[in-house]
Amino acid sequence: MAPFTTMKQDIPTSGYRLVDRSRSQYNDSLDIVEMNIAGVKLRNNTPLVIAGPCTVHSREQTLELADAVKAAGADMFRGGAFKPRTSPYAFKGLEKEGLRILAEARERTGLPIVTEVMDTRLVEVVGEYTDVFQIGSRNMQNYPLLSEVGKYAAAHDKGVLLKTSLLPTLQEVLCAAEYLAVEGAEKIILCERGMAFSQGTTRNTPNFMLLRELRSMTHLPIIGDPSHSTGQRDLVLPTSDMYLASGANGLIIEVIRDDEKPTINGVGVCDYNQGLRVGQLQGYIDKIRG
Ligand code: PEP
Ligand code: MN
Repeated sequence: MAPFTTMKQDIPTSGYRLVDRSRSQYNDSLDIVEMNIAGVKLRNNTPLVIAGPCTVHSREQTLELADAVKAAGADMFRGGAFKPRTSPYAFKGLEKEGLRILAEARERTGLPIVTEVMDTRLVEVVGEYTDVFQIGSRNMQNYPLLSEVGKYAAAHDKGVLLKTSLLPTLQEVLCAAEYLAVEGAEKIILCERGMAFSQGTTRNTPNFMLLRELRSMTHLPIIGDPSHSTGQRDLVLPTSDMYLASGANGLIIEVIRDDEKPTINGVGVCDYNQGLRVGQLQGYIDKIRG
């Protein structure tokens, strides 16, 4: 990657060590630590692409999308089985059945699975199925969860995708990653998911500067989430370009089927408005991989 200047801030580094670039062998560069997650190699200069539905609604929906995501050339398949929902009355995912469907998707496509874990009591259950644990935005500072996931990931060679919280500081993100690392987890990917405020039409606001700064502060890879940071289908690809131009090591993109309606089996499709039609993914991946 071409060197770029940053506004590297003079913030105290006392809260984190293992994830601190300046204490690592990558001190003099913007290189990331390379890692192999279930056969997928994360490397410098090669954007990682994770794609899939926000939520597993049905076997048919999920397997169709898994096939399409594989055909488009993405590296990993993401789907939610346990979903954090603002309203307690909203659909919260198919839970264990959702995990089984994701495992079937992996079997069919060979793509590693990424799925969220929200509860320390479910780390073992989710860990039996997933290759990468997603820690959602609302749990970035759930320290008991970070510790449990860190331990499990270290013992079972799993990856962890740590999403930034709703309005984080650099130090909060790095300390959250440290909670995972101190338990022995090594395959940690950070994810900028947008700040929880908006000036109008978008759901959240992408924080490109945070992403840039994190690149300079840590050797862990960091990807952008154009789906949640914008909340709008038509902004997903332009925002993906902006993340990559800001130094992102990859993207996580929510997709829906090309003919997806707003409901599946009578339940509203989660994050429907931001789901990229999966048919658009292939051309985009081809473009960014040159
Ligand atoms: C999601 O990835 O579907 C999700 C709920 O994301 P976040 O935790 O960033 O809100
Ligand atoms: Mn979502």
